[in-house]
Amino acid sequence: MVASGELPTADARVGEAQPEGNGRAVDRHGLVVAIDVGGSKIAAALATRGGVALHVRRVATANENLDALMKQLTGLVDALVARAPGEVDAVALAVPGTLDHDSGTVVAAANLPWKNTPLAEVLRRRTGLRTTVGGDGEGATLAEGHFGAAKGRPNYACLLVGTGIGGGVVVDGVLQRGVGRRNPEIGHMIVSPQGPRCRCGARGCVEAVSAGPAILERARELGSSAADGAAVHVAALRGEPAATRAFAEASEYLAMVVVSLWRLFEPPVFVFGGGVIAASEILFTRLRAKIAELAPPRASREVAVLRTQLPAETSFLAAVALQLQEEARKARVATA
Ligand SMILES: [Zn+2]
Repeated sequence: MVASGELPTADARVGEAQPEGNGRAVDRHGLVVAIDVGGSKIAAALATRGGVALHVRRVATANENLDALMKQLTGLVDALVARAPGEVDAVALAVPGTLDHDSGTVVAAANLPWKNTPLAEVLRRRTGLRTTVGGDGEGATLAEGHFGAAKGRPNYACLLVGTGIGGGVVVDGVLQRGVGRRNPEIGHMIVSPQGPRCRCGARGCVEAVSAGPAILERARELGSSAADGAAVHVAALRGEPAATRAFAEASEYLAMVVVSLWRLFEPPVFVFGGGVIAASEILFTRLRAKIAELAPPRASREVAVLRTQLPAETSFLAAVALQLQEEARKARVATA
């Protein structure tokens, strides 16, 4: 594997404004370097706060050690700043793992060499730019409200179903957090007490029964010979009983989470994203049917269940959205 080699680069556009160079207006003030850091891939963009990417770089994550990863991130920031047509005034990162939001420290992140790493502080020192660090799930949730399926909606929930399950709930434009500004761990709501042990240590979390690997494992347990996630979806489309049942169970558990979140917060919109939702029409279709079956009549009437409109290639928008959230939070604190 090429740990730090550059993958094909593409300029991407999202939103209304046009990028530099085609004769139309560009917001020359306050560009953001927005970086989505995954365990295997990084998407970094020079972007406006309106979500328009002027330059995008995609690289394989230098995840072999801390020094290599920090050098890679600093290098990406420097390279994008060098191409900026105007001032860059912030760096924002969307990262997986457990965070201390106040200090921008990554406490731990699976598949990445961060352990109690003061990521925001280190990057700020190295680049001279103020730096915001937030969770990738909450960033993706906020991105739906700024640029995606929940655009213009002050109240919505987002659920991301991939190799894990994450997401968030936005009420009156504010992402809901727990004590100590902790992310709510929607993926670890328990829906199947007799179900498999979750990687978090609890039993029967929705992630342990409805995420991509869980669906495949359940189908195989029921007798499917599918070798991977794509194959189990094809098997379900063909009507194979084991695969069909695995998707039916997974969608029922997800529907339980949707209805429970609606009971707690009453978001009128649920946006679904993540790799499994993108790849599997069956899961989403069954999920909608299950929600209608389980929910009280008012929820069935009032709740819209939507798919994300943001393609996976625009994952850096999560970081732009985290930057906007941080600025809104500071403005609220300043006026309080
Ligand atoms: Zn769990």
